[in-house]
Amino acid sequence: MSNGTSDAALALIDVGRRYREGERTLEILSGANLRLRAGETVALVAPSGAGKSTLLHIAGLLDRPDEGEVYVGGRACSKLSEDARTRIRRLDIGFVYQFHHLLPEFTALENIAMPQMIRGLSKAEAASRALQLLKYMKLEARADHRPSELSGGEQQRVAIARAVANAPRVLLADEPTGNLDPETASYVFEALASLVRASGLAALFATHNMELANLMDRRITLSKGKIVEL
Ligand code: ADP
Repeated sequence: MSNGTSDAALALIDVGRRYREGERTLEILSGANLRLRAGETVALVAPSGAGKSTLLHIAGLLDRPDEGEVYVGGRACSKLSEDARTRIRRLDIGFVYQFHHLLPEFTALENIAMPQMIRGLSKAEAASRALQLLKYMKLEARADHRPSELSGGEQQRVAIARAVANAPRVLLADEPTGNLDPETASYVFEALASLVRASGLAALFATHNMELANLMDRRITLSKGKIVEL
């Protein structure tokens, strides 16, 4: 392919998305272009209401663009069936949210092992990979703790480990450190960035925090519906 979509982990080409609000049409994305390479970390920095969540939802195949195409691992996804999109989302995309969404009745290790078991790994294999990820996050001593017994920063590191447990191509994060104090946020962000680089996945993080954005390879923003490099 000539437009750089085949070698990108994630590509958005000429993406448009608008919402109707009564008589008005809100043009949130219009001719938006983005390519993420494997191992690349990109921060999306834009004010509230600019369209960050809209962009992440489209990139994560949770929403479809009105125009344009989304490629995950070189595959055009916009016109696929909902089932096919769900499969790609499960296999190729990891999500981290502002709140961790860990299952409260399970331990840190079980929370990370679960998506792998759903995908077909044995309990032993999944637990072994979960422990590896916990070690990487310097949390092996917390493996048997439930989320309520972990600090906010620890919970978020477990959520990140869970998001990458199935080795997705793309990690999408919406304000992943938004509810953490600055020191913890920066620690979590560094752990996230080094995990991304080590694992070779591509990551797009929405954040308000320019200091954290500066830890990424590139920074982008949204302006008049387009994606602009900062
Ligand atoms: P951000 O994540 O940067 O805060 P969003 O992507 O959530 O921005 O929203 C961008 C704009 O689109 C906002 O003005 C929001 O009100 C509007 N919007 C988002 N989702 C919808 C929707 N489903 N219907 C109508 N308007 C929406």
